[in-house]
Amino acid sequence: MVSQMTTETHCRNGHRRTDANTYTYPGGLRWTCKTCQKKTHLAYKKERHEARGWTAGQPWGGPRVCRNGHRRTKASTYTSPSGQKQCHTCKLTTDNLYNQTR
Ligand SMILES: [Zn+2]
Ligand SMILES: [Zn+2]
Repeated sequence: MVSQMTTETHCRNGHRRTDANTYTYPGGLRWTCKTCQKKTHLAYKKERHEARGWTAGQPWGGPRVCRNGHRRTKASTYTSPSGQKQCHTCKLTTDNLYNQTR
C-alpha cells in the first residue's frame, strides 16, 4: 500500500518509513512521517509554554509564581467564571484594598 504512492523509504529527516509510521493525507498523494509530526508538535508545545513562562509538569498550566511573586499551587489558584486564572493571595489582597478604600 505504501509503496504504491511513492518510492520514498525514509522521511526527509531520515526516519524509516513504515506503515505504522506513515500518515497519509486524504487523497493519498501526500504522506508525512509520524515521528517527525510528533516531534514538531512537542517542540511547538514546549516553545509555546516557554513563551508564556510555563514550565513542564504543571497540570493546571500556569507559571510557578504569580505576578506578585506568590507561590502558585492548585489550591491557591482561583479560576474565575470566565476561565481566567488568578492568584488567590492576590485576589484576597485586592479585595481587602478594595474594601479599605471604600
Ligand atoms: Zn521523520
Ligand atoms: Zn499572588
